[in-house]
Amino acid sequence: MTTHFKYEKTLVVIKPDGVQRSLIGEIIKRYERAGLKLVAMKMFVPTPEFIETHYTLDPEWRRITGEKTIKGYKDKGLVPPTEDPLEVTRILLERLKAYFTSGPAIAMVWQGAHSVAIVRKLTGSTEPLTSDVGTIRGDYVIDSYQMTDLDGRSIRNLIHATGTVEEAEMEIKHWFKDEEIINYRLVQEQIIYDVNLDGILE
Ligand code: GDP
Ligand code: MG
Repeated sequence: MTTHFKYEKTLVVIKPDGVQRSLIGEIIKRYERAGLKLVAMKMFVPTPEFIETHYTLDPEWRRITGEKTIKGYKDKGLVPPTEDPLEVTRILLERLKAYFTSGPAIAMVWQGAHSVAIVRKLTGSTEPLTSDVGTIRGDYVIDSYQMTDLDGRSIRNLIHATGTVEEAEMEIKHWFKDEEIINYRLVQEQIIYDVNLDGILE
């Protein structure tokens, strides 16, 4: 039997800028009101090693992200700082470590149907300059790669949200122990998922 969609889980981390911008409640509200269920949460200051492992859980991440970033420069008519994808990601990773370890972050696991895709949609695309209006990044940040490249820092986009269902499994294991994830029922799940809506009318 395949697992029902309602059990899909995804990792969301409010990065240190999200905490500093006093957006914790606002960010949580966006996912909560969509009908997703919070099943784990903690706050801590990540170490550089922890962040490096997080980004390199997929052994292909360095190559893929490097190639994607180089393509991004070329698509905009810009010259990439180097043609070597691994050198591009080495620099990205150093900046991500400085960013992510600058203060407390809040890690969460959200559960619900298509939670990976739903969370990405609500969060908006990675570069705030082009994130859609109405998404969390589109509504609350103004950062751009052009500016972060000029200043030699990471893009500040408030949130890390897992990209794929396969990534979710690895990332949740990295951030949480099994016993930190709580299996429980929310009363609203009946109206979201149950086939029969019996019991509403008295
Ligand atoms: P995410 O899943 O939306 O966070 O994006 P990725 O997994 O593709 O990339 C991880 C991180 O690498 C992002 O949060 C950015 O900090 C950085 N990054 C990705 N693509 C680019 C890019 O084209 N330019 C720059 N400067 N940084 C990038
Ligand atoms: Mg990613």
